[in-house]
Formats: sequence, structure tokens, C-alpha cells
Amino acid sequence: MAGHTDNAIVVEAPMDLVWTMTNDVASWPRLFSEYASAEILGRDGDTVTFRLALHPDETGTVWSWVSERTPDPVTRTVTARRVETGPFAYMNIRWEYEEAPGGGVRMRWLQDFAMKPGAPLDDAGMTARLNRNTAVQLRLIKAKVETAARAGRQLEGKRLLVTGGSRGIGRGIVLAAARAGADVVTCYRTPGEAVATLEEELAGTPGKHQVLRADVADEADVDRLAAACEASLGGLDAVVNNAGTFRPQPYDELGPAEWAATLQGNLTATHLVTRRTLPLLGAGSSVVNIGSTVAFIGMAGGVHYTAVKSALVGMTRSLARELGPRGIRVNTVSPGRIDTEALDELPVEEAERQRAAFASFSALGRLGTVDDVARAVLFLVSDHATYVTGQNIHVDGCV
Ligand code: NDP
Repeated sequence: MAGHTDNAIVVEAPMDLVWTMTNDVASWPRLFSEYASAEILGRDGDTVTFRLALHPDETGTVWSWVSERTPDPVTRTVTARRVETGPFAYMNIRWEYEEAPGGGVRMRWLQDFAMKPGAPLDDAGMTARLNRNTAVQLRLIKAKVETAARAGRQLEGKRLLVTGGSRGIGRGIVLAAARAGADVVTCYRTPGEAVATLEEELAGTPGKHQVLRADVADEADVDRLAAACEASLGGLDAVVNNAGTFRPQPYDELGPAEWAATLQGNLTATHLVTRRTLPLLGAGSSVVNIGSTVAFIGMAGGVHYTAVKSALVGMTRSLARELGPRGIRVNTVSPGRIDTEALDELPVEEAERQRAAFASFSALGRLGTVDDVARAVLFLVSDHATYVTGQNIHVDGCV
């Protein structure tokens, strides 16, 4: 009669993390309590061959053997076997991962084996022993992966409003915050594919999320947006005023309509959102305004834009003073040129010309990414920045 074990556990962590951590054989001595070492001997395609050694047993003997395993990320299954079988006639292993109905990942560990004649344990004895040990190891794996998942969830329990989240920097902030465990409400003006794909991506993250159509330059829409935050989240821990628009215009052609639209869509929108959401913010919460580094260095064709972005810095300082006594922090993040999908929408040659030009202005020799900006924003709204207020952080690679 052959031996068979079938054990499973639900790990409350994203699939990618569970998969990556449990398939990193070199780190197994930290993941399992039974292994003293795991030495990678070779790789052939997806198959890894490795030597595992147990901690010395009560007689001081160190048991060690060579195994190989082949993870298949498409089916989320792993097949493995002992190459050096020792007391086993054979030992075949299968791991299966699936999204659990109530959240998390159900990880199943199956072992099929037979003992050699004369081995210290027969099939039934080894089945009982493996069942005991597998349950212990699965509990350890669960604890370690869940701890790692929590550490990555810098914003767990935080409720954010990020304006203008369907594209560009705002989208990057929304997704980074959602992946870090926050509940996020965001808005846009124009329906379309960007909104649909954002909703799809958010569905794969923890937390509650809402993507609403609301123009932050319009007071009635801002009212609706704030009411939705209150209804779905019960309050807010951070407001990120990201939505903004910019149409370059030489100053002598800059008419009153463009000037007014720039003011309304950037500065006034930030004011409307901040004032309307203030009753939802309590002690420990914060506001982040997205400025621009060109407000500090100037930009031909951008007088109107740099004027309003400069105004945000003054608004940030004054609000920080006025709201500080309530425990509310206010900061600005001023990005340099960021590589968003807007650049990809330009004709290829023009996009390349702009990328090269902007990269050459930066000390780091590259454009920023939306993640570069998102990381600074996440820091400011997190509990790592509890004494940071009234500041402007340039995320521009030093231009
Ligand atoms: P994009 O134009 O790529 O995206 C803007 C986002 O905001 C879109 O989702 C847009 O949605 C939304 N949005 C714009 N206006 C409104 C509004 N009135 N109400 C609701 N949603 C709105 O912009 P970026 O990502 O490039 O810029 C984001 C912020 O970063 C802006 O404040 C910008 O000034 C600043 N910035 C950008 C830099 C860059 O290099 N990209 C550099 C420095 C600062 P919809 O399309 O539906 O309107």
C-alpha cells in the first residue's frame, strides 16, 4: 500500500506574494522550521534542483537529500520529487494554489510515496508523521507570508481620496495606495477604457474602492464626491489633490479663458476639494497637493501653469499652520517630468525627443515614473511622516 497525504491552509495574502515566497527555495530555511539549509544545485528552464538538509536529529545525524521542483505560474501548481529518495522508494509532491472564496490563497500540499522495505517507518507510519509535520510547517508558512504581506501594506486601514485617478500620476497613486492596503475613492471626468481598466486592476487589490465620475473644478460634483467618501468610507485619512490640467501657451497669446480654466482646474479645484472634505478629516490625517517642479524653475509657455502651481505651495504652508492644531498635516509633492501614457500618445519621434530632452535635465539622467511620485505621496500620508507638514518634496531627479 502506498502513502498519501493531502493538507491545505488558507494564507491571507496576495497570490503573487504567496507564490513568490513559497517557491523561493533558497529562503526555505527561514520559511520552514525543519530545514537547516537549502542549496541550489542547478536550474533547467523552470526546474530547480536543490539539496535540502534537516537540522541534526536526536542522534546528531543530519539527513540530507536532493530534490527537484517545477513551478508553473500559469496553473499555479508545482510538481516536485525527491531525486535522492533515501528511505523512500519514491516521493512525489504537488503544491496547488487557488484564490480562496473568502479571500487569501488556499495552498494545498500533496505527497505520494512508498517506503522501501526495511525503512525505519512503513507507509502508514510515515503518512502519520508527514501529516503531523506538514500541518506544523503550513502554519509557519502562513504566519511568515502574512507578516510579509502586512509589512507591505503600509496604508492598511487608511481611507484616501485621490482626485484624477484614471490616468497618469493619479492612477499610479491610486494603485500604489490600494496595493498598500488603503481604501481608495478616486474620480475622473471622461469615461472610457482607462476607467474600466483601473476598476479591473483595483478589483485585484485589498480594500474598498470607488471610481466616480466627478469634475473637481465643479462645486456640485465636489459635493457629490465628498458625500460618496463619507457614505462609503465614513471619513478620510488623506486627500491627494492630484487632478490638474495644463495646455502650454505663449504668454502673449494667453487669453482670459485659458487663464481662468487653468486657475479653476488646478488651484480652485484643490481649494474646493480640500475645504469640502475637511469635515471628514480628523487628527492624524493629511492633505497632499500635487504641484510641479517647474513652479520653481520657470517654464516658457507655462506662465499660467507655474503661477497656479506656485500658489499651491503658499496654500500648503498656510493650511499646514491653520490645520496643524487639529493634527492635520498638509504637504506638496512637486514632480519633475514624469513618463506617463500622455507621452506615449505623442507621435513617436516627438515622444523620443521629449524623453531625451527631459532626461538630460535630470541629475539621474531619466524621466520620473508614476511610482517614483506615488512612493513620496504614500510616505507623506503614512504614519512614517507624522511630523512632516508644510513641506514641499521635489520628486524630479534634481533638475
Ligand atoms: P494626466 O492628464 O495624465 O491625468 C490627469 C488625471 O486627472 C486624469 O485621470 C484626468 O481624468 C483627471 N482629471 C483632470 N482634471 C480633472 C477634473 N477637473 N476633475 C476630475 N478629474 C480630472 O495628468 P498627469 O498625470 O500628467 O498629472 C497629474 C498631476 O501631476 C497634475 O496636477 C499635474 O499638474 C502634475 N504634474 C505632472 C507632471 C508630468 O510630468 N506628468 C509633472 C509635474 C506635475 P479625465 O481625463 O477624465 O479628465
